[in-house]
Amino acid sequence: MYVEIAFPISSYKIFTYKVPLKLRDQIRVGLRVKAPFNNRKLTGIVVEVSNSNKYKGKTYFIDDIDDDIRLDKNLFLLLKWVSKYYISPLGKVLQVALPKTLTSNYKPKKIIEISYRKNENKILKNSPAQQKALNFIREQKTPVLINALKGIISNPPSVCKALLKKDLIYWNEKIVEPNIDAYTVPPIKKDINFTKEQKIVLKDLKSAAASNKFTPFLLHGVTSSGKTEIYIDIVRDNLKKGKSAVILLPEIVLTPQIAGRFRAEFGDTVGIWHSKLNNSMRSWTWNKIRSGDYKIVIGARSAIFAPIKDLGVIIIDEEQENSYKQDSSTPRYHARDVALMRAKINKIPILLSSATPSIESYFNQVRLKYSYLQLKNRFGGAKYPKVKIVDMGTEKDETGRPGQILSGLLLNKMEETLNKKEQIILMQNRRGFSPIVSCGDCGQLEMCIRCNVPLAYHRKGPPLKCHFCGFYLDIVSPNCRGCKSSNILMLGTGTQKIEDIVNNTFPNASLVRIDMDTSRSAINLKNSISSFASGQIDILLGTQMIAKGLDFENATLVGIINADTGLFLPDFRSGERLFQLIYQTAGRSGRRKKPGEVIIQTYNPDNSVIKYASSLDVESYYKIILDERKSLNYPPYSWLAKLEFSAKDKKRLNKITDKVYDYLKTPYKGLEILGPVDCYYERLRNKFRMQIVLKSHKTVDPNGDKLNKYLNDNLSNWNSMNLSDTKISIDINPTSLL
Ligand code: ADP
Ligand code: ZN
Ligand code: ZN
Repeated sequence: MYVEIAFPISSYKIFTYKVPLKLRDQIRVGLRVKAPFNNRKLTGIVVEVSNSNKYKGKTYFIDDIDDDIRLDKNLFLLLKWVSKYYISPLGKVLQVALPKTLTSNYKPKKIIEISYRKNENKILKNSPAQQKALNFIREQKTPVLINALKGIISNPPSVCKALLKKDLIYWNEKIVEPNIDAYTVPPIKKDINFTKEQKIVLKDLKSAAASNKFTPFLLHGVTSSGKTEIYIDIVRDNLKKGKSAVILLPEIVLTPQIAGRFRAEFGDTVGIWHSKLNNSMRSWTWNKIRSGDYKIVIGARSAIFAPIKDLGVIIIDEEQENSYKQDSSTPRYHARDVALMRAKINKIPILLSSATPSIESYFNQVRLKYSYLQLKNRFGGAKYPKVKIVDMGTEKDETGRPGQILSGLLLNKMEETLNKKEQIILMQNRRGFSPIVSCGDCGQLEMCIRCNVPLAYHRKGPPLKCHFCGFYLDIVSPNCRGCKSSNILMLGTGTQKIEDIVNNTFPNASLVRIDMDTSRSAINLKNSISSFASGQIDILLGTQMIAKGLDFENATLVGIINADTGLFLPDFRSGERLFQLIYQTAGRSGRRKKPGEVIIQTYNPDNSVIKYASSLDVESYYKIILDERKSLNYPPYSWLAKLEFSAKDKKRLNKITDKVYDYLKTPYKGLEILGPVDCYYERLRNKFRMQIVLKSHKTVDPNGDKLNKYLNDNLSNWNSMNLSDTKISIDINPTSLL
C-alpha cells in the first residue's frame, strides 16, 4: 500500500511513501502522518492512497499517524482547488487551513474551589496557617476559589491539601472554558418586524436554501437597510433544518456587535473566529466547531476554512473589502472566491452582501451570474444623511487660518451635536500623529532604513515608526540628517493629531480612538465599541476600521477629515476603494429616527470619486468605473496575475526578472505581459521589489482557465532556474498592483 503525501514546503511536488502493515487499516485520505524527509521528520497530509508505486526511486515508509484529525471530503476538495487555483503547494494550503496550533490538544484552564466540610469546631493547634485558612473557609457561605486565600496564608494549595487530608474541606476542580463574553457586546435582543422589501429578499433566499443547489446572491442593500437582520433570519431558517452557517466579516472590530446580536438569538451555538483570539481560545473554538457545538461561525477571512458540519449557507458581509484577500503569504487566497467555491462544492446558497458591492460582483450581477437582491430603503423610515462637502482649498482663505485641519463648518456641527447630546464619528484614514517628518529647510524626510518610505511620527511608544516593516527609532533627531537644520516639521495628519485637536477644542467631550495602535487586543476593541454604543463616549475617532458595519443609534454627525487619502495612488482600484470608504463612512450617520449629517473635507471637490461618493450615487459611479476598466482592459474585463519578485540585490533582481520574462512562453492571443517593472513600493523590508503582471482578456479567456494553465505550464521552468535569494510569489487576482 502506498500513499501520496503533501508537505508544508514550498515545492509543488507530492511524495510517495510505503505504509507499514500496522497502519494499513487506519490510513485514509486527509489524515496527517509523520514521515522521514531529507534526514528530518515532517508532518504531511495524505492526498491519495493507492496500491501501486508511482515513484521510480527509493521509497520510504511513513513513521506514524500524527493525530486523528481528518478533513471531511468537501473541505479537502476545497483545499485542493485553492492549491490549484492560487498555484500554491497543497502542503502550504493545508497548513493554513489546519495549523498545528489549532489541532494540538487544547488544555482548558482549571480552577479549584474549596468549601467547609465538618461542622465541629476543630482546633488545629500546631498549624496556625491551616487554622487561619479553615476559619476563613468556614465563614464563607459558598465555595471559594483557592486563590482567594492568597491574602491570608502564604501557600494556599499546600495548606488546603493538608486540610483535605484531614477530611476538613471539600476540594473541587472545575474546568473554565474561555469566556466569549469578553469578545462580544452583551447580547442585543430586538423585536423584528420585517418590512415588505425585506420579506421579498428573505423569500428568495429561503427558497434557494430549500433547493439544495449552488446559488450565488448579491444583496445590494443601502446602509442601515437591515442586512444584518436578514442574515439572522436566514441563519435561523438553516438551523431549523439542522444546518449550520458561516458568516464572514471583514474587520475584527465588527465582531463584537454582530456576534452580540447573533448571540441574543442563538445563544451558545455562536462561535467567533479571528486572528486576535489567543491560541487556546482558537483551538477551543476550532474543536467546538468540529464537534458540532457551534452551529454558527462568525469570523474573519480564515473562518472560511472552518471545519463546520452540514454547512447550509455562507454569508459574506461587506463583500467588497480587500481584507478578505490574504496578500502577504502563500496561499494568496481571496476568502470571497474560496467561499464561492465552498458553496459550489457543498451545493448551497451563498450571500454576498454590501451597500457598495465590489465592481466584480456588481458586474457579475449585471451579467446575471448572481441573483440580485435589493434593499433600497433604510429601515424604520430613517433618512439618508445630508452630505456637505467642504473645499479645504478655499476654506483656508475664508477663515484666514491656513492649515486648519478641522474646518469651521465641521467644528460648528460638532458643537451643535454635542449640545444636543448626540454622538459624532470622525474618520481619518491615517494612524499615528503625523505620517511624515521633514526638514523645513532642505526637505529631507526621515526614512525607514529597510523600506523606501517615510517614518511616521507617533505619540506613544517609539516616536518614529515604519508602517510597513515595524522598524522604529527611539528618538526624533533634533537636527536634520542632511543640512543639520533644527527646523524639523511634523507634516500631515494622523488620528493621534486629530485626537489632540479635538481634546483641546472640546475639553468636556469624551473621545475614544480606534486604529491599529489602539486595537492590539480584541477585548480592548470590544470595550471601545461598547462604550460608544452605550453612549458613555461622545466621539468615536478612527481609521477605515470604523467606516463600515457598525450600528450606533445616537450617532448623527459623521466627519470625514481628509477624503483625499489614497486618491492619487497609482492603482487601478484606488478610486473604487475610496468611493466605498467615503460612502460607507457616511452610512454610519443617522441610522434611526434622528436625521444624520455628513461633512466631507477635501481639496478635490470636483474629482468624480469625491463627487459621486458624496451624492451617495453608486450606480452612476460604477458605470464610470466600468467604462474605464473596459477601455483599459482591467478586471472585471480581464483576469490578472501578478508575479512579484524580491531580493536584496537590485542588479541580481533585474537579471532574474529579465530571465523569467524570457522563460515565459509566447503568450496566447489575448494575454498581455506587462513588465518587469519596479513595484510602486520599490523597496520593503530590506528587499527590492519588481513585478510582472499578466492580463488575460475575458473575450478569449472567460473563466480564467487559460491564464491558470499558462501559469502552471510555465512554473516548471522556474523551478529549474537558479533563483538564489530571489523570492517569487504568484498572486492570482491581485487586489492591488502597488
Ligand atoms: P445594515 O446591516 O444594512 O447596515 P442593520 O441590519 O444594522 O443594517 O439595520 C439597521 C438597524 O435597523 C439595526 O439596529 C436593526 O436592528 C434595525 N432593523 C432593521 N430591520 C429591522 C426590522 N425589520 N425590525 C426591527 N428593526 C430592524
Ligand atoms: Zn535639512
Ligand atoms: Zn520599513
